Amino acid sequence: MNKTFRKLRLTGFILCGGMLFASAGWIKQEPASQLPLRRELKPGQAVIWYLYHSGWAVKTRNYLLIFDYTEPSERPTKRSLDSGSIDPAEIGAQNVTVFVSHRHSDHFDPLILGWRAAVKSIRYIWGWEGEGVPADIHFGSERRSVAVDGLEIMNIHHNFDGIPESAFLVKADGLTLLHAGDHGHSRGLENPAFKDNILYLMEKAPRLDLFFTPTFGGEIDALRLLKPQAVFPMHDGGNERQYAKFARKVKALGLDVEVGAAERAGARFFYVKGTLVPNEKTCVCAGVQPTGQAKMREDKKTNEG
Ligand SMILES: [Zn+2]
Repeated sequence: MNKTFRKLRLTGFILCGGMLFASAGWIKQEPASQLPLRRELKPGQAVIWYLYHSGWAVKTRNYLLIFDYTEPSERPTKRSLDSGSIDPAEIGAQNVTVFVSHRHSDHFDPLILGWRAAVKSIRYIWGWEGEGVPADIHFGSERRSVAVDGLEIMNIHHNFDGIPESAFLVKADGLTLLHAGDHGHSRGLENPAFKDNILYLMEKAPRLDLFFTPTFGGEIDALRLLKPQAVFPMHDGGNERQYAKFARKVKALGLDVEVGAAERAGARFFYVKGTLVPNEKTCVCAGVQPTGQAKMREDKKTNEG
């Protein structure tokens, strides 16, 4: 047994002891998802929740970024990030930025506007003009870069579905992430607008950490060019098994990327040093082990010394 492992076991023992006390009611217990929300993150680390369909929450050191939130089809009895739905009280103390790529109902649920009153620090970023209030940040057909409160936000624009849409490239706390919204095309790079957007993103994000993408066209081309550390398939709310299918496809193609395939709304991932830990538990004793590709990548790194 090496030193690190012994130390881990000891930490695990102490943490588990704490959890036992907590569950016995001797210490006030917090809801499970409060723990990752309040966790001290280093620059470059993130906790990621799949909410539903194209909805994601990404917690970095200083920010909680929420993308394309819509309510899960099966409403949980109690709202929480861990059940895939937002309880404004749960995120009330966070520095929240809400992104909406376009106005289709599977990407924009007007109930998000109600969070304004409940969350002290909140801003809205719209992928088209004229929504929300004038003080919000709006992106239109022009590509822009906006710096706000230490965040850098860039957009690409398209109207593949006949309405104006954006996808957002965000730099926050040492991380670069891309939420593609509905930016996908059955002809992939053969579509000039799609290709031009991907080339622009390559230039703006020489290193991409997290890539959230629909899988209805062009995503493999995008993966090959953007080379993200981790990719998260989306846009199959209620049919989440498609995500595992995508993960198998990526593996079969031999692409060197972690795949965060959510199994259900509320699935949680921890991103650290370019690897993903799926279904991360909050207690060391629960045996957090990188699995799947993350494990393979780690083994590869160990073997390479
Ligand atoms: Zn859509």
